[in-house]
Amino acid sequence: NRQIVLAERPVGAPTSQNFRLEDAAIPTPGEGEMLLRTVYLSLDPYMRGRMSDAKSYADPVEIGAPMVGGTVSVVVKSNLKGFAEGDWVVSLGGWQDYSISNGEMVFNLGKEPAMPSWALGIMGMPGFTAYAGLLEIGEPKPGETIAVAAATGPVGATVGQIGKIKGCRVVGIAGGAEKCKHAVENLGFDVCLDRNSPTFAQDLKDACPDGIDVYFENVGGAVFDAVLPLLNPHARIPLCGLISQYNATSLPDGPDRIGMLMGTLLVKKIRMQGFIIFDSFPNLYPKFAADMQQWIAQGKVKYREQMVDGLENAPEAFMGLLEGKNFGKVVVKVGD
Ligand code: NDP
Repeated sequence: NRQIVLAERPVGAPTSQNFRLEDAAIPTPGEGEMLLRTVYLSLDPYMRGRMSDAKSYADPVEIGAPMVGGTVSVVVKSNLKGFAEGDWVVSLGGWQDYSISNGEMVFNLGKEPAMPSWALGIMGMPGFTAYAGLLEIGEPKPGETIAVAAATGPVGATVGQIGKIKGCRVVGIAGGAEKCKHAVENLGFDVCLDRNSPTFAQDLKDACPDGIDVYFENVGGAVFDAVLPLLNPHARIPLCGLISQYNATSLPDGPDRIGMLMGTLLVKKIRMQGFIIFDSFPNLYPKFAADMQQWIAQGKVKYREQMVDGLENAPEAFMGLLEGKNFGKVVVKVGD
């Protein structure tokens, strides 16, 4: 049972020294448990938070323990009602070949799911995050302008495409020309801007002649600085993620802009609301799944995956994800 464990906590950006590949015995499932074999492992930005022991909404990974992560796995042996050998399941198997589960937080995909890895992306946690955050907090109305960064990742790409379905103008922000081209040509964004351009703030202003009504916050940092002056009265900000600061070891350079932020929220009567997907929207998943299945079938939502071959390559792919080296949803093919 190959496992990638947390060797030490990162200071700043994770390095390969923070991870270690180990080999453990394949565990035996007890009463009320099942043994799962990992086929696909999802890599997600939140994992950076679990590597740190700073207080957060979830416990950190212990040093020496396998990294946590969502997986699509096959049931090898089950002592659990509702799960049989050969079933495909979505679970929290972690960065390892085999895991034990008691069935909690496990979703059965049946014997022959069509696109099993999609359960980690467009049909799973990131897709649901985009849907719930945009529709429940963003409340987009036809004709409004939505801005979203990390625009080709699983959350941002889905936010933009749902925004188009809802009749909005969608302005994407991504790292580099190739990603921006994809957002416009394949995902149907109205425009997409390169966040690395020296003229980015002005480009964003030019791309939003009517201001911004919904800013779906995935990244924070310099992108938010450029967005803030463009927000319209009554704008909504679903606060989903702040990836630009996940590796930070100190506060950003001054001057302190909190007063300006709060002043803008106040005078423009802006609503900014954080959310953690399964905590904040415990009952919405079935509605999301039904809508999303339909949109995909109708060709209204497209989905791009970056498949990484082999568990041993997970650390490098994860470090790349935090830097924007990924292009689409990062999934590791762990086994067959
Ligand atoms: P992505 O696949 O989009 O990967 C992250 C992307 O962030 C990178 O590809 C890069 O895109 C961008 N990025 C990295 N560094 C910076 C930076 N300094 N400034 C601006 N952009 C940067 O990830 P996901 O779609 O899985 O997640 C998107 C966000 O949603 C994350 O912040 C994540 O933590 C959050 N999230 C929150 C959830 C919740 O429940 N609240 C649930 C799921 C995700 P590019 O190079 O194109 O700019």
